[in-house]
Amino acid sequence: MSLINVQGVVLKYIKLGESDKIITILTDKLGKVDVVAHGARKTKSKFMASTQPFCYGEYQLYKGKNLYTLSQSNIIDSFQTIIMDLDKLTFGIYFLELIDSLTESETKSISMLSLLLKTLYILTHDDVNLKLLRLVFDFKAISISGYMPQVNCCIKCGNKILEGYFSIKDGGVVCRNCKDSKSIYGINKETMNNLHIIKNIKLEDLRNIKYDDKTIDYLQNIMTRYIFYQTEKQLKSIILMDKIKK
Ligand SMILES: [Zn+2]
Repeated sequence: MSLINVQGVVLKYIKLGESDKIITILTDKLGKVDVVAHGARKTKSKFMASTQPFCYGEYQLYKGKNLYTLSQSNIIDSFQTIIMDLDKLTFGIYFLELIDSLTESETKSISMLSLLLKTLYILTHDDVNLKLLRLVFDFKAISISGYMPQVNCCIKCGNKILEGYFSIKDGGVVCRNCKDSKSIYGINKETMNNLHIIKNIKLEDLRNIKYDDKTIDYLQNIMTRYIFYQTEKQLKSIILMDKIKK
């Protein structure tokens, strides 16, 4: 039996039998893996805390026939303060679910893990606008997945543009000449400027940018549709977020 030590964040779990869990961890060495944690649902289990969603830890695993099994764990940061605040929790669940939907099992993605850790850290420690954090997170996550929206030049003719339209189907901005009936999202100069900022900003600098709520909502609507177009997955947490908003 060979043991492997990984670091990672627990994305979700499902119950197994009386007291076990299968947890999904996004790890540094193995990418996303499903791991059986025996007895983890018992209150006195040594795995109780380290197998909760959001938990970032060191996990020692061994590989069985199909799944990995957890043999030891050590919490680095549980991020459990997220669950004390309903807004942060709602966004946090969304971040975990989106990462889960954008990653393939056992395909290494250090950049995705790093994005998730930075985002959870900001969610826990900083007082940033959550809608802005989500928009920037979405842009970065879909870009890491290989679908970075093009926002500098028209995606069809390559001309540099200051304003135009966003085409979900083509994955970027298009100019007036290349616009078709499906490029329904107008992008004026200010919105274009915001798109550039969102593309280039580091998460740790989010507190320093100026934004207005309407533009963020408008761009989020585009981003949500774009992600759905690329993944074809409807996330439960988006439905939850919409319900809470109402
Ligand atoms: Zn064009």
